[in-house]
Amino acid sequence: MKLKTLDSANLQGKTILYRAPYDIGVKEINGVLELADDMRIKATISTLEYLLKENCKIIILTYVGRPDGRVVENLRTTLHAKRLGELLNHPVMKIDDCIGPLVDEKISQMKSGDILMLENVRFYNEEMIDDDDFAKKLCNGKDFVVFDGFPQAHRMHASTTGIERHLPSVAGLYLQDEVDTLSLLLEKPEHPFTVIIGGAKISDKVDAINNLLHVADTILVGGAVASVFLKAQGRELGSSFIEDVFVDKVKREKKDWVEDAKDILKQAESLGKKIIIPKDLLISDGISVKIITREEIPLGWMALDIGPESQKDFSNIISQSKTVFLNGPMGKFEDEKFKEGSKAILLAMKNLKGQTIIAGGDTIDVVRRCGNLEDYSHISLAGGATLEFLSGKVLPALIPLIE
Ligand code: ADP
Ligand code: MG
Repeated sequence: MKLKTLDSANLQGKTILYRAPYDIGVKEINGVLELADDMRIKATISTLEYLLKENCKIIILTYVGRPDGRVVENLRTTLHAKRLGELLNHPVMKIDDCIGPLVDEKISQMKSGDILMLENVRFYNEEMIDDDDFAKKLCNGKDFVVFDGFPQAHRMHASTTGIERHLPSVAGLYLQDEVDTLSLLLEKPEHPFTVIIGGAKISDKVDAINNLLHVADTILVGGAVASVFLKAQGRELGSSFIEDVFVDKVKREKKDWVEDAKDILKQAESLGKKIIIPKDLLISDGISVKIITREEIPLGWMALDIGPESQKDFSNIISQSKTVFLNGPMGKFEDEKFKEGSKAILLAMKNLKGQTIIAGGDTIDVVRRCGNLEDYSHISLAGGATLEFLSGKVLPALIPLIE
């Protein structure tokens, strides 16, 4: 996928509406609110430095959390502006709204090199329904959209597809990097290409698995997603977490993900691809923990991590790969007892001299706990958008950015 790059447009001295990927929550430390994480801010520094060099006026737009059209104090962009100022070593002004006469006046007074952070756009209901008048107001007084909101690019909102309808738009460097890396996985990965899927919910991942089956050589499955595949092979899983999603809440009809897992296994066989499901598991009844191999899991016991044999198998396959993509932890890593599976595969990926790509909020957390984010070639900072991209869908906010 080739995108319109920053240097494809003449941005010199222009007023830029910069769509940032700053959907970052806050946490309280000793009674003081702080950003939960600044990776997404760091990721935008190179684009902002480029725009400063071009003498632009920069107006930053993002949404934060789910305030549902109301003003929620903890979801303001004030801390985002503050952290950006520190990281960029440049003043960042903040205004408590994102549209309206006060905002327009402030923008009209801006000089080259000024940066202004707008308030959380989700304080308006119009944002989530991509209201066209609202999108137009967001574009007042600006010349270009520079789009770095990759984690939100699968959404049709006023601050994504809306603003792109009203202004010429180009991709920022952070978005470009995400798209280049993920396109490489789909278009020309170096083989052997191993995909590792874990985590809690198969519903988020099924489309990506189906698409990646066509390009990957092997798919390793762990986490609660593996439980669905084990069930598809006829295993009893006791009280393990198996995702239930109502397709019809009134009739209480549930979607049976086990059928999807069976289809994926069949499809893999017909494509000559390997899907590897853990041969041993760590199970617990909440008090004791044990390793099982072929035995059934009794009621009251849950599968909570892959076992040591599976760790060895997975690590061997990883070490023979040239490209590895990981989304989802291998176990309930929040509990120390169940982080060994994730730790083992992260070590194998770290030791690999190939492309190692990691995606997902909880997966990033597990890397932080068990190792170092710098040990991998690419950390995708998007969750849903990354999985939709890998499932082969064209994300709506990317369409206007395609060259
Ligand atoms: P990501 O955010 O990286 O995409 P997910 O949200 O899909 O990852 O999955 C992360 C969650 O999956 C974690 O909270 C973890 O505890 C949970 N999980 C992993 N394995 C299991 C398991 N066997 N049983 C229950 N929960 C699990
Ligand atoms: Mg998650």
